[in-house]
Amino acid sequence: MNDPTFKTMGQQAGRRSWAEPWKIKMVEPIHLTSREERETALVDGGYNTFLVRSEDVYIDLLTDSGTSAMSDRQWAGIMLGDEAYAGSRNFYHLEEAVQTYYGYRFMVPTHQGRGAEHLISQVVIKPGQYVPGNMYFTTTRLHQELAGGKFVDVIIEEAHNPASLHPFKGDVDLDKLEALFVEVGAENVAYVSLAGTVNMAGGQPVSMGNVRALRALCDRYGVLIYLDATRMVENAFFIQQREEGYAEKSVAEILLEFCSYTDGAWMSAKKDNLVNIGGWLAVNDPDLFDALRNMVVIYEGLHTYGGMAGRDMEALAIGIFEGVQDDHVRSRVGQVLYLGDLLIDWEIPIVRPVGGHGIFLDAKGFYPHIPQGQFPAQTLAAELYLESGVRGMERGIVSAGRDPATGDHRHPALELMRLAIPRRVYTQAHMDVVAEAVKAAYDARETTRGLKMVYEPAYLRFFQARFERIPKTNEKGA
Ligand SMILES: *Cc1c(COP(=O)(O)O)cnc(C)c1O
Repeated sequence: MNDPTFKTMGQQAGRRSWAEPWKIKMVEPIHLTSREERETALVDGGYNTFLVRSEDVYIDLLTDSGTSAMSDRQWAGIMLGDEAYAGSRNFYHLEEAVQTYYGYRFMVPTHQGRGAEHLISQVVIKPGQYVPGNMYFTTTRLHQELAGGKFVDVIIEEAHNPASLHPFKGDVDLDKLEALFVEVGAENVAYVSLAGTVNMAGGQPVSMGNVRALRALCDRYGVLIYLDATRMVENAFFIQQREEGYAEKSVAEILLEFCSYTDGAWMSAKKDNLVNIGGWLAVNDPDLFDALRNMVVIYEGLHTYGGMAGRDMEALAIGIFEGVQDDHVRSRVGQVLYLGDLLIDWEIPIVRPVGGHGIFLDAKGFYPHIPQGQFPAQTLAAELYLESGVRGMERGIVSAGRDPATGDHRHPALELMRLAIPRRVYTQAHMDVVAEAVKAAYDARETTRGLKMVYEPAYLRFFQARFERIPKTNEKGA
């Protein structure tokens, strides 16, 4: 067991083995395609795993977003949908769940996370203001920029180094942040955009000590903190496992304390909250809530449904409760760590420590011969799919997009390929198959060639961009 977090799991349970705190009541058949079928699917999809049909995928680790298996309780909740246009009882159940487990006073539902990001960005950011954050996220930064904000990365340096074993690589660099406050003036900072487990850094957590100190710093300068709570439950689990003083606290208690240091949060309920669609936005300031509640009716729907059906709000309210149970989080993150440990044992380059929601393969480590301009992580996603039918996604130069000011590619230090693990969906045997597939792609690394982009959409290009394989003859000149 390479990861310190994993070791404590068996110890906590008082035995060596552990298992999921659920059993399977319904199954969905999947099948393995032939290599020829996958070659066709990949070329048709422009070497972009987002453009491959899910029927052509064997084990789908494209994302953990909206791919969770719901429980029997949640499906029962679907039958309790109150589809009234206004004042659905499911809304009140959802509101209570957000208040109880996240602790914020006011909440509006949204159709998914980016709906909430849109609302808060438009209402809070004044054009020209800065939005510092612990590493960007694709949709979050785009909405901040569309509202006229300028994102500034203030995550600690360790986050950019895939080999650093820092236990809280999501922490904010408080000196960097304070330097920004001083340089531009706190009145020109819209808010601090804090994310719990930093997706783009490999699912890395923020410590309680860091958020507490961040609160104190922001109070001194009069700056607000809004939290991307998408995977905050997983962040709370890492605090429980790694931070002094939290071993005896429940994930739910830790979550509540963490959120108490922030002024509000947006949520993609498709992750931690165990539903296939949904989101919410919660704040403590009544005036801000008033503005948001007014805005939600323009873009999402009435403030008591915000783009969600009553039945979906019910499943979400139940999912919030299930998602914060210690047994659930331990087995969810435990499965990710299990896969990570296999790969570490085989000396395959991945981001360490292993994060909460997936394994991030270090594409620069796989393909030192492929320059970043030939999309190593995109290449790796394509190769892995071709090899095995396992689908992951790029988190590197394609995802980073172009700088709106210069129009040039942004060159992120991390060039990663993500294998995101859906919650409560796959078994340990699936993880073994995935590990073997990654090993096969790694063994073939030296003969792998890069890609060139042949179609580039204007926004969030990683979703729809198309690529072709660079022909062999070009290799030397590249
Ligand atoms: C998925 C995600 C979002 C956006 O949410 P959607 O539900 O996909 O619109 C925002 N932030 C983070 C960290 C995410 O992972």
